Amino acid sequence: MTHELSPPDLEIQERARRFVDEELIPWEVHAEMNGGELPPEVGRRHEDEVRRLGFLAINQPTELGGGGYSVLQQVLIQEQTGRVTNALGWVVSTPAGWLPAVATPYQMEHYVLPTIAGDKHECYAITEEGAGSDVDAIAATARRDGDAYILNGEKWHVTSANLADYVFFQAKLTDGPHAGSHALFIVDMETPGVRHIRTPAYTHTFAHHHWEMAFEDVRVPATHLVGAEGDGMAFTYEWFRYERLMIAARCLGAAERLIEEAQSFASQRLVFGEPLIDRQAIQFMLADSVTELWAARLMTYQTAREVDAGTDLKTLHAHCSMIKLYASEMANRVADRAVQIFGGRGYMRENVAERFARELRVDRIWEGASEVQRVIIADQLGKRGVRGVAG
Ligand SMILES: Cc1cc2nc3c(=O)[nH]c(=O)nc-3n(C[C@H](O)[C@H](O)[C@H](O)COP(=O)(O)OP(=O)(O)OC[C@H]3O[C@@H](n4cnc5c(N)ncnc54)[C@H](O)[C@@H]3O)c2cc1C
Repeated sequence: MTHELSPPDLEIQERARRFVDEELIPWEVHAEMNGGELPPEVGRRHEDEVRRLGFLAINQPTELGGGGYSVLQQVLIQEQTGRVTNALGWVVSTPAGWLPAVATPYQMEHYVLPTIAGDKHECYAITEEGAGSDVDAIAATARRDGDAYILNGEKWHVTSANLADYVFFQAKLTDGPHAGSHALFIVDMETPGVRHIRTPAYTHTFAHHHWEMAFEDVRVPATHLVGAEGDGMAFTYEWFRYERLMIAARCLGAAERLIEEAQSFASQRLVFGEPLIDRQAIQFMLADSVTELWAARLMTYQTAREVDAGTDLKTLHAHCSMIKLYASEMANRVADRAVQIFGGRGYMRENVAERFARELRVDRIWEGASEVQRVIIADQLGKRGVRGVAG
């Protein structure tokens, strides 16, 4: 056993794997052919199962109603949800993990607890037309007005906006002692001035859409400010670290599934009268894939253990970037090889390799594109040296 998982870890991993295999994977092709949507009764059954299995709010403490898992255990669960396409695994929820520590009693009652319970859903509006990798370039503004803030701005790629009850809106303060710094607000989707601009089509087929949204003189009470004025970027960095780890975990699951499916196909497929798997060119593609998967898995589990052990934030920031970079690039290489092994079948939307080849592409872009991860890693290398980063 390479990864030294404890009996409880193995049980959680197995519980998640069974849920994905028995409940989610059978619905992938249906979702792909129906704009990402499932029959409503199936979606409800998945939600019920998630509750029953203890996979609601896996990153929140049990005293708040969450799953209470260690970060390593969260990685094991997310790895399994990564094995399914069409975002069907997103039914396993991870509400903002940083929020309970800074939320006011009002925010706990109206947003945090209902979200953990699965009764409310959130989305994030940070990116803009002129600000993606460079989050500090956002043009959205927040102006204090008595006991309220007036919010303005246009946001892009707001994932799950079509399913959300409220949105985290990041803006720059226009005045006061923190003018020019970032602040984060909770905005109910129904608030006057919040407007859906359009729903662009994306490469994948998900029921979660990515809206362009306008915020036009949106008035929110000061009770909707998260933390303090000027805290906005700190929350975003904390969220980035967590999501980078979980993206890496899901990429492990995707790669494992792709290797298994490609190997199974190659074992049955006859070419020139012999099983495809007997060709060394095919064996080499699978060998490279499983080797890279193992490396990525070691890195990801190790980073999760570092988070659980309370390793310093700078090391974690670098390691989360390294695993996000490596695992997402690895999974994309594996998906490309799997398409090649499946041949023409690998270009059909009903084929898992075709879907993953499209879906995994965004893992090299969102939550900091690969180039941005390299910038972070290079910066840490410059400051801490090789042993500080990879020692
Ligand atoms: C499907 C999808 C869902 C998303 N969901 C959300 C969401 O829910 N909420 C949200 O706020 N945002 C969301 N995003 C936005 C996402 O985080 C950004 O797309 C991402 O951060 C990159 O920003 P950008 O697209 O503006 O690219 P740009 O910043 O314009 O970058 C373009 C290219 O230049 C590269 N680049 C940038 N800086 C450097 C550098 N210093 N050196 C070398 N190369 C560099 C980038 O890596 C990239 O390849 C989503 C995006 C997608 C595609």
